[in-house]
Amino acid sequence: MSYINENFLDLQESYLFSTIAKKVEEFTKKHPEKKIIKLGIGDVTRPIVPTVVEAMKKAADEMGKKETFRGYGPEQGYDFLREKIVEFDYKKRGIDIQKDEIFVSDGAKCDTGNIGEIFSTNNTVAITDPVYPVYLDTNIMAGRKNIIYIPATSENKFVPDLPKEKVDMIYLCFPNNPTGTVLTKDQLKVWVDYARNNKSVILFDSAYEAFITEENVPHSIYEIEGAKEVAIEFRSFSKTAGFTGVRCAYTVVPKELKGYTKDGKEVELNKLWNRRQCTKFNGVPYLTQKAAEAMYTEKGMEEIKENIQYYLENARIIREGLQEAGFTVYGGVNAPYIWLKVPKGHTSWSFFDELLENAGVVGTPGVGFGEHGEGYFRLTAFGSRENTIEAIQRIILDSRK
Ligand code: PLP
Repeated sequence: MSYINENFLDLQESYLFSTIAKKVEEFTKKHPEKKIIKLGIGDVTRPIVPTVVEAMKKAADEMGKKETFRGYGPEQGYDFLREKIVEFDYKKRGIDIQKDEIFVSDGAKCDTGNIGEIFSTNNTVAITDPVYPVYLDTNIMAGRKNIIYIPATSENKFVPDLPKEKVDMIYLCFPNNPTGTVLTKDQLKVWVDYARNNKSVILFDSAYEAFITEENVPHSIYEIEGAKEVAIEFRSFSKTAGFTGVRCAYTVVPKELKGYTKDGKEVELNKLWNRRQCTKFNGVPYLTQKAAEAMYTEKGMEEIKENIQYYLENARIIREGLQEAGFTVYGGVNAPYIWLKVPKGHTSWSFFDELLENAGVVGTPGVGFGEHGEGYFRLTAFGSRENTIEAIQRIILDSRK
């Protein structure tokens, strides 16, 4: 008999995006003449920049020639890319990260989801709420029962309080999805200090690092003193360079970072993650890594910056437009997400319905990201400029009715 992993039965059914799709379909059937603008899903719309496309083509040509064909690459990623990451993402910010602390992968989703494999299922886990759902669901799949939710709402200005109890693993995501908010260096230091005092590990997801515009917002957790002893950092090229369909990311596991056996012996987490990746992962395609490498050229960086500016300008349009319409809004300054408070008397879902009905705009109900997301709503800046402007004009018009 094939017994199943019953932890899967403990997962909450995710109705969020299927319910949204169903509601949109019903609306379209009822009003086929109305144009719907979707500012809900977190996928990008800008194409991959020319310098990166060129690098991909060149790599494809190499793969077609006997002399330059490549088969399996290193599981941890090619040196040419790891060296660029070390140089541009860390050394330039005064952070000392070594090449063999970088693990190139096919996505931050997989990495944040798989990292739990190197930790005990008895660990207590702290997860902020609302949250990117991967952290919670993968811990439930693994059978971790001790999960503590830490609210991040307007009441605490989206700065999660330290847990009252001792936790072993902490998931932090900044700039945050869904709230679009950030922590300052001092605020992040509080968590690093907590982790150092409690021998916990921080799993720091900075998939949206490229959108940071303000000073004093750390781009990497390793900007905080002592963080290399307690933190794993996840980065992604998905939103930075339109790689949601190409798939490339990386994870940093510093050598100073230790986990513990039951009898208190220290073990290097870098070694465990390396072992896990070598056993279960066969590396990112050469083409993809060559494409990622091209982002670090002068021209590549310029082109990518332009795309990021485009999305940030969309974010500004949404944020200021919503404020004009009388909404209370958060995020959108250092992130492509705008998190708004739904008007009094509404729930996240009733506001979704009203926005669809009256403005033909689709967003994401906050409660879909956790209990503490109730009463909020997420709009994304990843749409086209025209659609973003039109959506906001419609919302403003509707608010004046
Ligand atoms: N982490 C966060 C917080 C995200 O919002 C996303 C994507 O939406 C990811 C990770 C996934 O990144 P990737 O495309 O590299 O798997």
